[in-house]
Formats: sequence, C-alpha cells, structure tokens
Amino acid sequence: MDNLRHSCAHLLAAAVLFYYPKAKLTLGPSIENGFYYDIDFGPSAGSGHFSEKEFPKIEQKMHELVKKWGKFEMIELSNDEAMKQFDNNEYKLDLIKGIVDKKEKITVYKSGDFSDLCRGGHVENPKEQLRYFKLLSIAGAYWRGDEKNKMLTRIYGTVFPTKQELDEYLKMLEEAKKRDHRKIGRELELFTINNEVGSGITLWLPNGSIIRREIENFMVTEQIKLGFKHVYSPHIGRKSLWEKSGHWDLYREKMYSPMDVDGDEYLVKPMTCPMHIQSFTFNPKSYRDLPYRIAEIGSVYRYEQSGELAGLLRVRAFTQDDAHIFCTQEQAVDEFISVFNFINKLYKVFGFKDYRVRLGVRSKKEKYLGEDSLWEKAQEKAVEALDKTGSKYFISEGDAAFYGPKADFLIKDALGREWQCGTVQIDFMLPERFNLKYVAPDGLEKTPVMIHRAPLGSLERFLAILIEQYAGAFPLWLSPVQVAILPISEKFLEPAQRVKEELLKNNIRVELNDENKSLGGKIRQVTLQKIPFMIIIGDKEIQRSKVKDQKEEELFITIRTREGKDLGMMEVTKFINQLKSQIENFS
Ligand SMILES: [Zn+2]
Ligand SMILES: [Zn+2]
Repeated sequence: MDNLRHSCAHLLAAAVLFYYPKAKLTLGPSIENGFYYDIDFGPSAGSGHFSEKEFPKIEQKMHELVKKWGKFEMIELSNDEAMKQFDNNEYKLDLIKGIVDKKEKITVYKSGDFSDLCRGGHVENPKEQLRYFKLLSIAGAYWRGDEKNKMLTRIYGTVFPTKQELDEYLKMLEEAKKRDHRKIGRELELFTINNEVGSGITLWLPNGSIIRREIENFMVTEQIKLGFKHVYSPHIGRKSLWEKSGHWDLYREKMYSPMDVDGDEYLVKPMTCPMHIQSFTFNPKSYRDLPYRIAEIGSVYRYEQSGELAGLLRVRAFTQDDAHIFCTQEQAVDEFISVFNFINKLYKVFGFKDYRVRLGVRSKKEKYLGEDSLWEKAQEKAVEALDKTGSKYFISEGDAAFYGPKADFLIKDALGREWQCGTVQIDFMLPERFNLKYVAPDGLEKTPVMIHRAPLGSLERFLAILIEQYAGAFPLWLSPVQVAILPISEKFLEPAQRVKEELLKNNIRVELNDENKSLGGKIRQVTLQKIPFMIIIGDKEIQRSKVKDQKEEELFITIRTREGKDLGMMEVTKFINQLKSQIENFS
C-alpha cells in the first residue's frame, strides 16, 4: 500500500510540473490513508496561488500521463551529477547533501518522462495500478517542519487498488466532514478558537460551556462517591517547584517561558501534580490517611507546535479531570485497578465502544527521572494491575511519563484517528523527590506511591471526540437546550410562556421560539439545532386542556423529538417528570 501511495505522489508531481514547470518539488511520502507532496510554487511559478480549484485539471493530467508510465527505472547518480540535475532546486540539494553525509547512494526514479530524487519503493506497473486516486486538500507546511523555513504548499491525495475501496474511503471522509467537531462547534455555537485570543486557545461559548459544566459536575459527583476530595490550585507557581518536580529538566519543551514576579521566576503550570503534592504535605500523614485522593478539574498550559494544533483535539490550554492518589505500595495495584474500572464505566456512559489501552513504558533513548530499580518496580505494578483487570492492552516503548509508566486509553475520532484520552500512571519518583512520608503502623516513616490519573483526560479533546461521536445530537442531559417551545401562532404565546416557566422551575433548559414563522419552519430550525424535544402549543392543545375540567388548570402540550417522532399530547407535569427521570438516569 505504501508503494502504491508513494508512486501516486510521483504522478501528482509530474502533473503539477506539467502546468507549473517552475514549481520546486520537495518531498512526497506515503502517509496513513494516502500521500502528500510538498511543493514550493514560488512567486515565479506562474499563476500565483495554487488552489483546490486546480484539482480536476491536475487529476485529469495524472490519468493522462500514467498511460505512458512503465516500470519505475532506478538511476544511480554521482554527487556531481545529482547537484547538476537539481541545481535549481535548493530543497533537493539540501536532501542530496543529507544523503551524501550519510554516505548513502543517490538515486533517482524515472517513469514516463518524469524523474525524481527518491530512495525507492514503488509499484511494479504504474499504468495498471495507479488508477483509483483522488486529490483531497491543500495545507501549508514548513520545509523540514521548521517554522523558520519557507512555507510550502502541501497537496494531499489518496489512492486505492480498487474503485470500490476508493469510493468507500471518500464516503467515509464525507461522513467525517459532517461530524467534524470544528464545523459542529461553529454551527451549534459551542466554542471558538480565534487569533485575537491566540491559536490553540479555546474560548467556550455559552452552549459549549453548558456541556462542559455538566460533564465537570458529573465527574465531581462520581469521584466524591469514590472517596476523592476536590481542590482548587493556582495556575502559576514558583519555578523552583517545577525544578524540584523534574518538570523544568525533563518537560521544559512543553512549558512556557518563566515570568518575573518580584525578582523571582514563576511558571504557568503544565501539570497539576506538584500542587497536589503540597496538599499532601500540608500536615503529617499516617497510614490511616491513605489512600489520600486529591482531585481537581484543573487547567494546564502546554506549548504545542503550531503545525500540531487541531481544533479542540490538540490545544495549548486545556482542562483535565485530574487527580492524584497517595497510597502505600501494597495499595497501589488495587487503586490502579479501581481507576481502570472507573474509566471503563465512564466510557460506557458516553457510549464509547471502540477504544484501546496502551501501556507506555520507558525507552532507552529518552531521559527519565529516578533509579532503574524504582522504574522496574513501577512497571511491575502497572503490569500486575492491568493483568488483574483481565483487559486487553498493548505495550509501547517510549510512551511512559518522565516519572513513571502509564496506561492510556486511546479513542478514535470521526476520521478513525486515535487520540489519547484517559490515563492512569504509577509514580515512585515524585514522592522521593519531594521527600513525601507517612507513618506506617509500626511507627516508622515510609514513602508513599503516587497514582496520577485523568479518566477523560483533556476535556477539550474529550469534547471534540464526543461532538463527533454524537454528530452534535447530544443526549438529553448534555444538550445545551433540552426543550424548545413552539407556539403555533402569537395567540399561544401566553400559555407557551407559562409552560416555559414551569420547565425552568424544574431546572430544564428551555427556549421559547416566539418568532413569527410557520410551525414547519420552526421545527426545521430546532431540528438543525439538535434540540432533543419540542413542545407544540396550538388550538388543539388548548381545547384539550379546557375539556379536562380541573381546578388547577393542567395544560396539554404536543411533544415531538428531534428525530421527527410524534409523542402525542400529554400534560405538562407528566412531560416534566419524564424529562427529569431521563436526565437523572442517564448513567
Ligand atoms: Zn519514489
Ligand atoms: Zn500528575
């Protein structure tokens, strides 16, 4: 598949050069689900800015050119020959220099009239195999991924062995586009990320804030049941705190520069752990205080490269459902398992079925805190706990935190890309560094173990995936507006207002649509807003209310769902009770 995709990148480059002979090619690798080619169209490349409007023309040319493409032919070049052939392309010269430095062979591959610097990996028969391709999108990309370099035009495309596979993939992309959390976020007015505030920084709008608050409240309530105590910690702290924790040494690339406060340096927190440690050390602890579980819906700030930012999926400021459990070594496995089970339970509540668990362990390449013996102990505990849960997981070297091994829950977005959401980590290192102690039953001081955990992870990322999973049609308890009231005409505004007040009294989020529009128009609008229920009030409903001869007038209303189902007429109180029970029993 990689050979097919990379070969198609050659074909794309050939077609681009046909129309833009002065464009400079750089790199065209295969990627998951397709390929791209980064091209410098330059100011002298002809018609200026290259846009997606050119795709049909380029695709047409690709189909035409490939008819003359036989097998890719490898030609080995000497350093001089290579420098000469690519002397007007500084990017290729840069690549050639890299090849020479590594003492590798310089090769170009030729098919038809087109040849390109390449180390190989192509299909046998381009003419037959390169048929079912499609250009998809354009993005900006820096040469070598470095912001200091020139911005190139990246053209994305895909290719499949059969027409059916291509069609299926394109259909999936269409569906994913409809579910894209950035698009739905705009349409339903959930959040905005704009340049005024800064890239990668989320501003929650009122509708999105309701969803987030519901999730936060739910998490706080559930965790209280599990023995967690909630705290608030500050967003900044002295740099020395982060030096002590090891963050300044091993996590600095993700941290923002220190700021000066009265001649002392302060940092914006990238993690909450050192703050929660201060809560542990506030007073002496004995074994009776353990497990000591401190939780916080806590915001953290991490530097992510601008090219990596992706809607809510990767941001520079986010909030975690964070907690730290301080416990004895003997308690660590059980605490880990209980967190693990909690995360699984939560994911069921949110309807996730398709997720995987990855155990991140140390790699030899990177730097970590602490001694090998402690790492081995921590990894042993993590494996023991995971095995005891009986769940499937896979091990990934290099995915540990700098202070300990961690089990991450990976959930897929609408495009099928996996994102790390929940996490549970065992840490023998920070307790040592902060000299944490508790008094054991024998009266001696011992060092506790720390478990770091965030079941949903970044709420921003979790909400992105949630938005895509529900395609914006949130379950009742999360819906920003739960009920829309639609009077058939102005005549019914007064009873509609009464119904609204009744719902508000019962903590139901309701909106009264008093626009002078047809009922059909109003229903369409509510359906687009994905409001779960609509209440219709007109003559029929008022008649029915009057027939029922009661002292306290009981209003009748007609209920419809956003799926278009007619639930018929019922009394307001009955509907309210139904809503309340549905909201309370969501989990
Ligand atoms: Zn190639
Ligand atoms: Zn932590």
